[in-house]
Amino acid sequence: MKKTWFLLTALIFFMFVPSQAQEIWEGRGVWAHPGDFGKSEKEVEDFFSLLKKCHIQIVVPLIKDTAGHIFWHSRRFPEAIHPEYKDFDLLRAITNVAPRYKIKVHAWLCDFPEGKDSPAFKSHPEWAMRNPEGGLTSEEKLTPEQIYGPVWMCPAQRPGYTDQWLLPMIQEVVQNYPVEGIHHDYVRYPGDVAPDSYCFCDYCVENYLLYNFFYYPSRPEAAVPLKNIRLRQESNWDQDFTVRPANWDQMSREEKARFILEGKSINRSDLDYFFYEMRCDAITRFVREAWELASAIRPDIEMSAAVFINPMKSGRFIGQRWTDFLPWLDITMPMTYRSHFQGSFEDYLLYLGDTVRAQVEWVAERSTLLVGLDAHYIFREELEPWEKAIQLLKSEKEARSPDLEKELAGLLQANIAYLARFSAPRAKELKARVELFRRGKIDREAMAEALRRILNDPPPGFFPGDKLIRTIEVVRQAKGQGVVIFAASHLSRKKLWGALEKAFSFAAQPAEEKIPARNHLSIRTWKGRQK
Ligand SMILES: [Zn+2]
Repeated sequence: MKKTWFLLTALIFFMFVPSQAQEIWEGRGVWAHPGDFGKSEKEVEDFFSLLKKCHIQIVVPLIKDTAGHIFWHSRRFPEAIHPEYKDFDLLRAITNVAPRYKIKVHAWLCDFPEGKDSPAFKSHPEWAMRNPEGGLTSEEKLTPEQIYGPVWMCPAQRPGYTDQWLLPMIQEVVQNYPVEGIHHDYVRYPGDVAPDSYCFCDYCVENYLLYNFFYYPSRPEAAVPLKNIRLRQESNWDQDFTVRPANWDQMSREEKARFILEGKSINRSDLDYFFYEMRCDAITRFVREAWELASAIRPDIEMSAAVFINPMKSGRFIGQRWTDFLPWLDITMPMTYRSHFQGSFEDYLLYLGDTVRAQVEWVAERSTLLVGLDAHYIFREELEPWEKAIQLLKSEKEARSPDLEKELAGLLQANIAYLARFSAPRAKELKARVELFRRGKIDREAMAEALRRILNDPPPGFFPGDKLIRTIEVVRQAKGQGVVIFAASHLSRKKLWGALEKAFSFAAQPAEEKIPARNHLSIRTWKGRQK
């Protein structure tokens, strides 16, 4: 009898005490472009109701793009407003609608890239980053054929783009729009183009020596040599010495850049170490200042950032050692997209788990970690046969060969067969187009267009939602605190909202309680002490 009572009591206890699984907190976010929200408050409302249906708690809308266009009605920078948004204040509509859905809004700024025609660059070309030859990032080549577009602005130069343009923009948004947070993107140097080539603008070149205190400002010409007392040369570093070359003032920008990248302070090429550190410091300083400025206006403001997957490597190559600026981030979103990994989808899942576990260690609970996943590159296997066929169709006449044309014909057949698995009528339609193309009735461009139409509006299932669900599950297993998906437009075009809803279907918590802000407690205390 006693035993039965015990079991019954235990049963009642477990029925009413929430289980561990129900208490699991999970952050769920999505990056969204202006096009996702539409052009009216009604369309914005529709988008938010879709987000709500999929249990999204935070949306990150783009409000400053890499061309320097902005998507709010700025009073201070009206010339930067995107020409198609002069009559529609997108951020106003978003912040009007969001509270009704209890979804957080972190306004997303592409911090340092600007367009060649942007008002910032046109009015202040001296704010742009320069390479050792004095060139701009926009002239760099990404591959032998591909010119890199954006002009990057120097993060370090003061006064310059950072304090005269970008920080005032952030200030204006926080002042005039009830966003919950500011989101940094491109908060770095342009290492995907030229890791070692920036920035050698006039300011950075001169500031390098002073920032690292490589000479005495009271005696700029004085050369203080290394004093060798100890056996190992490098161990004599602590009796101060100078590094400024005697002919510094006569050296060209290029010579100074060579000196910085290849020169020695003591016994081996080590001056570049100070250059990379200086870049990391410039980015960290900006992130700190953005928070200081924003939180002075709205103490509850949150900050988040899209960062590269590995802060050690990104510190060296793009000046983004994000472990340095975690104190000023409430939410850290490493873009752990498949495009940053080699190999098969299964390889990716394995590497993703390892990477998220490393990210958990790097973040060390100093910020909320929402792992950035993509809804495009994970479909490499599905996309490749179509993209390859489009590429072959677009090839110049001289580049074509019987072998390549045979490969093209094979790809077209395989694509018809794949499409037929999801929509017989559309496969039939494509088959008819291919037949017309084969008989020379439509040209290569028309054939390529027919393939593009399928990719832009595929039948449901064409991009398997299971892949998205599996990547999210890997993040859970690796103890990431949540995920943020890049991007809403891919979810729409690839018809993946249903899969996302499924992935997020369990234990959907009330949104208003979610995404715990750290509130920068340590920094606040420090600031408090300053007063
Ligand atoms: Zn510079």
